[in-house]
Order: sequence, then structure tokens, then C-alpha cells
Amino acid sequence: MSDKVFITELPNCDICKSAEEKAVTAKYDGLTIYGSWAKMCKDCFQDYGKGLGIGQGQELILKTSQKEVK
Ligand SMILES: [Zn+2]
Repeated sequence: MSDKVFITELPNCDICKSAEEKAVTAKYDGLTIYGSWAKMCKDCFQDYGKGLGIGQGQELILKTSQKEVK
């Protein structure tokens, strides 16, 4: 699966950070409608993301969330 990236720590959303200077956890890393790449939260990805797929965008998934810890 190439549209998902497993990482240990989620980065902050680049768009929220530059637009409103607030720290929002990013859920996607992808191409924006402006032609540049950015880490995006869910809201920003829906507004500015080009979509998921090779060369477009990837969903960021926390590695720890894959473990079944109960
Ligand atoms: Zn955002």
C-alpha cells in the first residue's frame, strides 16, 4: 500500500500553522491545489489536497495505533 505512511509521531498541519498559527495534528502528506506539498489535517486536506495516491498524497498513520493494546 503506497497511499499510507506509518510514522511514530504525527507532524503538525502546515496550512493551519501558517494561516492561523495554531498547532493541528496533520493526517495527510500530499500535493496541494497550489502545486506544493504540505502536511495537512483532515479539514485542510479536503479543502486543499489533490487526493490520495501515488504522486499525490499519502495518509499518515501512527504506528502505535496499529498495535492492539487493551
Ligand atoms: Zn489544517
